[in-house]
Amino acid sequence: MGSEGGEVIRPHHLVLVPCPYQGHINPMLQLGTILHSRGFSISIIHTQFNAPCPRNHPDFRFIPIPDGLPDSLISSGNIPAILLAVNANCHTPLKDRVARMMQSEKPNGKVSCIIYDELIYSAESVANSLGIPSIMLRTNTVSTFLARDLILRLIDQGQTPLQDSIMEEPVPEHYPLRYKDLPTTIFKPVSNFVEMVENLRLVRTSSAVIWNTLDCLENSLLDQVKQQCQVPIFTVGPMHKFAPQLSTSLLKEDYSCIPWLDKQAEKSVIYVSLGSLACISQHELAEMAWGLTKSNLPFLWVVRPGLVRGTRNIQESLPDGFKEGVGERGRIVQWAPQKEILAHKAVAGFWSHCGWNSTVESIAEGVPLICRPNFADQKVTARYVTHVWKVGMQLEEELEREQVAAALRRLMVEKEGIEMRKRAMELKARVEIGTRKGGSSFNDLDKLIKTIRSF
Ligand code: UDP
Repeated sequence: MGSEGGEVIRPHHLVLVPCPYQGHINPMLQLGTILHSRGFSISIIHTQFNAPCPRNHPDFRFIPIPDGLPDSLISSGNIPAILLAVNANCHTPLKDRVARMMQSEKPNGKVSCIIYDELIYSAESVANSLGIPSIMLRTNTVSTFLARDLILRLIDQGQTPLQDSIMEEPVPEHYPLRYKDLPTTIFKPVSNFVEMVENLRLVRTSSAVIWNTLDCLENSLLDQVKQQCQVPIFTVGPMHKFAPQLSTSLLKEDYSCIPWLDKQAEKSVIYVSLGSLACISQHELAEMAWGLTKSNLPFLWVVRPGLVRGTRNIQESLPDGFKEGVGERGRIVQWAPQKEILAHKAVAGFWSHCGWNSTVESIAEGVPLICRPNFADQKVTARYVTHVWKVGMQLEEELEREQVAAALRRLMVEKEGIEMRKRAMELKARVEIGTRKGGSSFNDLDKLIKTIRSF
């Protein structure tokens, strides 16, 4: 690094292209933070839709590009349709913007690499057409990657929609998944989902793949995928452990729950959050609320605007009398500082939708899970939590308050849950080894940085 007129000149300038959803923005910005700390200069080129907040990252340049998404498409919430449109609409603006950077006279103008989310695959062809190396970031698990391949094959063979009679059957090629755990889509038409998945599975011209997973969690699957992949795969997860202080939230985090947590007994609180996208019905919300009440456990519950289908007003969504009945035993926030919460000594369990970020954040803190997957990869991850890592239990049936309360107590106070917490703590120790000097993720991070410097 040199210095010119007070400006630090960083020899390698990286362009990062995140996918505009919270669970994808987080790992990309974490990666940016890690690479910045190793001497790279970082530009984030992003859509106007779900634009990340530049204030939290004063060291990065944030460059919005027009995404051409009509309001009607955004409000439909149809993720595959939105992402297909983002890829189609952003190709040219992204190319123009990076080309302008390349021509810039400024010291940080030259772009040495584009790192893009696998879902924004059009960035790969932009990089290729400009003669810039590119690297793909996969923000999900290897098990999900392989399960997507399987579902594509079943679609190709005309076996979808899957018949009810096979749903409970195990998938022969993929223990411990059942057919009903495969990552299908809830959005129509299915052809959009197929197009997306086909586009993101291949590494066409990219020089490497970065994966936000860990060797100790997916060892044998990783070996399998590495054998088939033509380029190096760097598993550098969980990335939040390398960039711990970072806030990457699109919604404002409500820190008022931390003093409340401080007052709770050690390992007593169940944290409940279904992530940034999952939606439930009014009835399900009510069963969750009364289940939490009946469990008699202290709880911290994220009820985000839009969690209940068709309503944005949280107060209206909660059942009458619920808040008064719970009093100080429960706390509800619209959005939480999740990583801090999971690391808090009062928290003993996490009722989660099993998005990959939430799951790995929980595992990294030794917090066992109640899994309530909703769609996409979540069912795959839930199955790994319960049957491979054995650090959680799944709520499979329709939500019903008595059963919810019983499951919460099984996880939090009964022998089964105590055993799970022990295993979760063991897994946490393995994650710590992986991210420490000499560990698998630590070493892969070093290798990744050497690779980028060689461009
Ligand atoms: N998250 C948060 N506050 C909340 C709920 C979630 O900061 O109240 C973060 C969480 O830490 C995670 C991300 O949002 O990093 C959600 O990503 P995930 O992959 O778990 O699920 P998705 O939202 O993509 O379904």
